[in-house]
Amino acid sequence: MSSLKNVWIVSSVLIVVLFLFFIYPRLESFGNMPAVFQWVFRVLVFIAILSFTIFILVELKNWHSRCLVLERVEESKKSTADSDSEDMRGLGLSLKIDPEKNYKEVTKQISKIVQSSLMAQTAFIYLFNESESHYTLQGFHSSIDVELAEQFIAEGSLFGEYHLSAQSINYNASELDEEKLIYYKVIPKVGSLMIIPIRMSKGQFVGFLGLDSVDKEAWGEEDLELASSFTNMFSISVWQIDVIDRQKNHIKFFQDVNKLNVSLSLGVEQLDFYKVAANLSRKFFDFDKLTIAILKNEQEKELVIEYIDGYEADYGIGHQVTVMGGLWENLIIKGQPVMVSDYDESDIEFRFQPGDKESFPFRSCLGIPLMVGRKRFGGLLLESFSTGNFLPEVAETLIFFGKNLSEMINRMNIYQSMKDLAMIDGLTGICNHRAFKERLQVEIDRCRRYGSTLTLFILDLDKFKRINDTYGHLYGDFVLKKISNIIRGSVRTVDTVARYGGEEFAVILINSDKKGCFNTAERIRSNIQSFLFEKDGMSERMTISIGMSEYPADGDDLQAIIANADMAMYQSKRDGGNKVVMYNPELES
Ligand code: GH3
Ligand code: MG
Ligand code: MG
Repeated sequence: MSSLKNVWIVSSVLIVVLFLFFIYPRLESFGNMPAVFQWVFRVLVFIAILSFTIFILVELKNWHSRCLVLERVEESKKSTADSDSEDMRGLGLSLKIDPEKNYKEVTKQISKIVQSSLMAQTAFIYLFNESESHYTLQGFHSSIDVELAEQFIAEGSLFGEYHLSAQSINYNASELDEEKLIYYKVIPKVGSLMIIPIRMSKGQFVGFLGLDSVDKEAWGEEDLELASSFTNMFSISVWQIDVIDRQKNHIKFFQDVNKLNVSLSLGVEQLDFYKVAANLSRKFFDFDKLTIAILKNEQEKELVIEYIDGYEADYGIGHQVTVMGGLWENLIIKGQPVMVSDYDESDIEFRFQPGDKESFPFRSCLGIPLMVGRKRFGGLLLESFSTGNFLPEVAETLIFFGKNLSEMINRMNIYQSMKDLAMIDGLTGICNHRAFKERLQVEIDRCRRYGSTLTLFILDLDKFKRINDTYGHLYGDFVLKKISNIIRGSVRTVDTVARYGGEEFAVILINSDKKGCFNTAERIRSNIQSFLFEKDGMSERMTISIGMSEYPADGDDLQAIIANADMAMYQSKRDGGNKVVMYNPELES
C-alpha cells in the first residue's frame, strides 16, 4: 500500500515538472539556464513520462486481475450457498471438499511424479483388502499404452505373502515372471520391478507403490529410499484427506442432530425416538453396541436399559444395570463421560453387572451421561469389539450429541407427564373417563389380535347422594378417595381401575372371563361393605353395586361391553344394591 502511495507522489511531482516544461517553455528562469541544465531537465521529464505511463499500465492490469478475483469470490459465495452439505462454513472455513476427488488427484499425481522422477515405465498404487485378501488399483501412470488390473488376488511368489512381510523389494529381469507381473492385463516387456509398502502413521500396512522399467537393474538402494519417501507422501496425503472427510462428516452430523432436535414431534413414541437417534449415531460413530439406560428410581439407583442397537447376546431392553462400582457409576453418580480403550487394562470393575468384563467380546467403550442442568437421568454407551476404537475428538462429538439427546428426552418426558395428568382423575389419582375408554379400546384390540378375553366391571355406589346431603361434599370426596383405594387394592396391578363418573367406577381385567373374575368383584363388594369411613368424627358404611360383562362373549365392541356391564349393574340396583351381577342376555327382557 505504501509503495503505491510513493508512486503516486513521485508521479504527481513529475507531472508538475512536465507541465511547467511544456506549457511555459519560454519562462525566464529556463531561458537563462545553461543548455546543459536544460538538457538534464528534458531527460528527467522524459523519464517522468515513461514511468508514469508504466505506472498507469501496471495499475490497469492490476485492476483487471482484481476484478477477476472479485468475480470469482462472488461466484464461490453463490455456489457454497447452493450446496451447504459440501462446505465447511460451520467451522469458519470456506474449503470445498470432495474427498473422493482429492484422493484420486493425490494418487494420480504421486504415480506421475514417481514415474517421471525414477524414469519408470509404469508407476502404480494398489491398496490391500485384508478380509477379501486382494489388491485394488488406486491409480497409475505409464509411459506406454498399458492396462492395469482393477483388482488382483494376493497370490503367487511375490504378492501371496507380501502383506505379511511388507518389505521394500527390487527385482531384476532374471527373476521376473508372470506371477510377479499379475497387475498387468497384457504384460509388456519388464526388466526391473520395485515394490514399496505403504504404511499409515501407526505402521499398519495398507498397500504398496510399485514401479517397473524395461531396463534390467534400473534402480539401486538410493532409488528405493526415494521411492519410500513417495509412499510416505501418499500416506500423509491420505491421512489429510481422511481428516478433512471426518470434518465434513462432523458438520453433516451436527446438521442432522439439529434437524432432529427441531423436527421432533412431542408425541413421538419413546422407542421410535431412540431408533431415530440410534440410526443417526450409526451414521457417525463406529460401534458394535449402543445402549441407552434410564434412571427409574433416583434414590435406589435403579437403572434400566431402554434401548439397544447392535450386539444382543448380553443385555437387552428391560435389563437392570448395577450402577455402583461399575462403568455406569461414572455416568450416573459422577456425571462424567467414560472412555476405555481396553477393558482388560482399565480399572473399571464391570460393564453392566459384576464379572461381565470377561464374558463378552467388548474391548473398548465411550459413554456419556444424559443430563438436564445438573440432573442426571441416564446414560448413553457405545462399545466396540476392538481396542482403542474411540478417539478423543469422537468423545467431543458424542458429548454434544448427548446434550441434544438429553434435551429432547427431557422435552418428551415433560410432554408425557402433561399427557398423564390429562388422563388422571384429580380427586382419586386413578384413570379418568377418557383414559378408561382409550385403555379399554387398546385392550379390546389386543384381544382381537390374540384371541384373548377381558372382563369389565362397572361399579356404582349405593345411595351416595345421601352421604353428600348428610355430611357435605368434603366428606363425600373423602369416601370417593377411599373407595378408589379399596378397589385398587382388590385387583391385580395389570388391571385398570378408573373413575367412570361421579360415584361410578370401572375396572378392566385383562386375560380373564366373567366367571373367573366373579370372586374379585365379590371381594371388592365385601371389602367396601366392611370398611368404616371415618373422618373428623363422622363415620359411615357404604355399599356398592357391580355389573360385569365380558369381551367378546357379551359384545363385540367397546360400546356393547360398557352398555351390558351397565345393564348388569342396574339389575343389582333393582335387586336392592350391594350385589355383583353378571350380564346375560335375559337381563334385556
Ligand atoms: P343409587 O343408589 O341409585 O346409585 O343412588 P345415588 O345417590 O348413588 O345416585 P345418584 O346418581 O343420584 O347420585 C350420585 C351423586 O354423586 C350425585 C352427586 O352429588 C355425587 N357426586 C358426583 N360426583 C361427586 C364428587 O366428585 N364429589 C362428591 N362429594 N359427590 C359427587
Ligand atoms: Mg350414579
Ligand atoms: Mg350411585
